[in-house]
Amino acid sequence: MQDPVYFGDEQVAPEEKTQRVHGVFASVAARYDLMNDLMSGGLHRLWKDRFVARVAPRRAERILDMAGGTGDIAFRMAAKGAEVTVADINEHMLEVGKDRAKKRGIEGLAWRVENAETLGLEDAQFDAYTIAFGIRNVTDIPAALKEAHRVLKRGGRFYCLEFSTSEWPGFGNLYEAYAEHLIPRIGEVVAQDRDSYQYLVESIRRFPRMPAFESMIRQAGFERTGYQPILGGLVAIHWGWKL
Ligand code: SAM
Repeated sequence: MQDPVYFGDEQVAPEEKTQRVHGVFASVAARYDLMNDLMSGGLHRLWKDRFVARVAPRRAERILDMAGGTGDIAFRMAAKGAEVTVADINEHMLEVGKDRAKKRGIEGLAWRVENAETLGLEDAQFDAYTIAFGIRNVTDIPAALKEAHRVLKRGGRFYCLEFSTSEWPGFGNLYEAYAEHLIPRIGEVVAQDRDSYQYLVESIRRFPRMPAFESMIRQAGFERTGYQPILGGLVAIHWGWKL
């Protein structure tokens, strides 16, 4: 039997985690974008803008937006002229994304159902790989990082946006209190789904600290790795290069 992994605060078999994460995002897909605005007070939009500014997509570059969900990152990169493939394990999230793209008149995106751990994509195809608020949901993170490295061209860049732990004195505790008490409550009232948002809070708390995640990125073969904390590390942008 394989070692158990954490699904939120619960220990489960790896396949069960993947299935339950799928269940979470199938359940929240329709309300996902509204909930992001409510839970972050709109801040997630600024974090995503900042992230894409760091990625600095260029015209005609090929970019894989992994765990791309409803398309927030892909839309921003496509606006810069990049050729973006949005990939996600959850078809319901992608369906919401396709509808949003249509309503906004965004064309030219490729949409694929993919597990980040085992990509059905050839080696060395992309100039950049992005993953925003996705990696902490992946069951086998080292496998996903290796796959990211594999599908990037030499000279390609990896960028990850993820929650972490704020090192600002007091702020981290304030956020913990907010997350612990209010986020599941907002999930219950707005999305009628307390459990999914409870999972969200727990998965954020369990995600490795910034230096530990940086070394995982390095172990996957990336070089010139680094990270930029936002709000003291509540959220962080991580990067690495395939050289
Ligand atoms: N990137 C989008 C954003 O920033 O709004 C969506 C982030 S959402 C919090 C996390 C996404 O990760 C979900 O759409 C989920 O289906 C996806 N995901 C979880 N596990 C995955 C896996 N193993 N492979 C690919 N996508 C995965």
